[in-house]
Amino acid sequence: MILLDGKKLANKIQEKIKEDVELLKKGSITPGLAVILIGDDPASRVYVKKKAEACKEVGVYSVVHEMPENIKEETILNTIKLMNENENINGILVQLPLPKHINQTKILEAIDPKKDVDGFHPFNMGRLCLDLDSFVPCTPLGVMEIFKEYQIDLKGKDVCIVGASNIVGKPMAALLINAFATVDICHIYTKDLKEHTKRADIVIVGVGKAGLITEDMVKDGAIVIDIGINRLDNGKLAGDVDFDNIAPKCSYITPVPGGVGPMTIAMLLSNTIKATKL
Ligand code: NAD
Repeated sequence: MILLDGKKLANKIQEKIKEDVELLKKGSITPGLAVILIGDDPASRVYVKKKAEACKEVGVYSVVHEMPENIKEETILNTIKLMNENENINGILVQLPLPKHINQTKILEAIDPKKDVDGFHPFNMGRLCLDLDSFVPCTPLGVMEIFKEYQIDLKGKDVCIVGASNIVGKPMAALLINAFATVDICHIYTKDLKEHTKRADIVIVGVGKAGLITEDMVKDGAIVIDIGINRLDNGKLAGDVDFDNIAPKCSYITPVPGGVGPMTIAMLLSNTIKATKL
């Protein structure tokens, strides 16, 4: 079994990004990222803090617009408009989830697609589906980078994705189809999950349920990518996969933490540099 070390790869990518930023700065350009954080969700706060720290490490300017839970939609839209017009800001992201009274689609559609470093705007999602150059959501993009680094060939592979959200499962499926894999997407209403996962060469799980994928659900030699992040009662982080029992039968597997998570942040930085170069 080979451990897919997302942390190591993310560090390598960030070193390269640091060099890119230095070059841009020589031309008097400092990449800038604006993050909008609404409410007090502790997980969102942790993610935003990590993103801001990563920006600082590579020399990207970042600003966090914090807003209270009861903020009006109009205020968020106005802030996005200002960021769209601000020449010092190259990338904009709105940390999800949003409070219930806010229309998420309206917010994401307000971001200039050229600054949409999370790749959630319908314009970018559409281009991704058509296999055209676009901003690709950071988590599935990070998974593709892992495949590239470890020279895992996707052509003709049977891939089962568990979790079909707009930010993880669906863009992951588009990327894999574009790479000529055969893709099976499962979700909460899938009748027999094991029947799908068991026959896959590659199982990619992004659900948010610790221990969802057990050893009997994965075939020998499978490649397992665990996107899930769950905080256990003992305070530790875990993915969606029963790692200890599944790892011995896999050919490759990502750990949690240290797998897909750090790659998501590295891809955000990479998308911010891409937006700056545009
Ligand atoms: P979401 O709630 O939007 O989507 C969850 C998906 O899982 C849905 O499609 C749902 O139908 C499916 N699902 C739920 N229960 C299921 C079950 N029992 N069997 C099969 N499918 C089931 O969540 P999300 O935003 O896509 O996030 C999913 C997980 O990935 C979370 O744990 C989140 O923390 C994690 N995540 C990690 C990163 C990272 O950087 N590693 C980034 C984004 C999300």
